[in-house]
Amino acid sequence: MASEPDLFDSHCHLDFEAFDGWRDQALLEARRVGIRQILLPGVTAQHWPRLLQLCRDQSAADTALYPQLYPALGMHPCFMAHHFPEHLALLQQRLAAREALAVGEIGLDFFIPNADRESQQALLEQQLQLARRFDLPVLLHVRKAHDQVLKMLRRLALPRGGIVHAFSGSEQQARIYMDLGFKLGFGGAISYDRATRLRHLAANLPLEALVLETDAPDMPLADWRAEPNRPQRVADVLAVMATLRAETAERIAHQTSNNAREVLGLECNAPVG
Ligand SMILES: [Zn+2]
Repeated sequence: MASEPDLFDSHCHLDFEAFDGWRDQALLEARRVGIRQILLPGVTAQHWPRLLQLCRDQSAADTALYPQLYPALGMHPCFMAHHFPEHLALLQQRLAAREALAVGEIGLDFFIPNADRESQQALLEQQLQLARRFDLPVLLHVRKAHDQVLKMLRRLALPRGGIVHAFSGSEQQARIYMDLGFKLGFGGAISYDRATRLRHLAANLPLEALVLETDAPDMPLADWRAEPNRPQRVADVLAVMATLRAETAERIAHQTSNNAREVLGLECNAPVG
């Protein structure tokens, strides 16, 4: 019997309303293709209770049928209008109560039109400080702002590193993140032929630095552009990764999943086969 895939979706917004009505089915399908664990990043304080409830509800589910869900909590730079000063105190309380495995999704997005760079930077810095204080890894969303984020990370020296989700920087920036204890997340974007620079990175960075993700319901793969993305597509991201790299899908799955577990402080799995 072929050994079962060992996959981890390191970034999936399963709490979003886009999954209402078919969330259970999406989870069953994901587990069937080998996705064993999924990390859910929080984006606004309004979303946190729902996300935490979802993870709690699922924790009693049969792990042969359903993936395990893990919560992260943070304030996303693309939703600045939803964040208020009191949310930072709420975040601190929840982190102190050990309700999250990581602080995220946080970061800088200078790609969105009229980005309020100063507010974004202030919010990121405050959340990075909380990650340091509670000894937690961080999940970063960074667009057109890698140098600014790296500068902040160097200054704050986080104890645990984290994951740069949907990595879009240069090879040099990737190496600096790695030196700072970060893993780099790759998802559906590598399935597009035109993404030559990204595909080159996915092919050449050390496997020890990579994690797989979907960012579902966003970032659909090239072959499924018409429908919302879903966690089971991690298996398809893996297939693309295996065509790009001189390594077997089995080895890539095992190592990238353990990379995610390692950075999040979860138990790693033994090699398959
Ligand atoms: Zn996200």
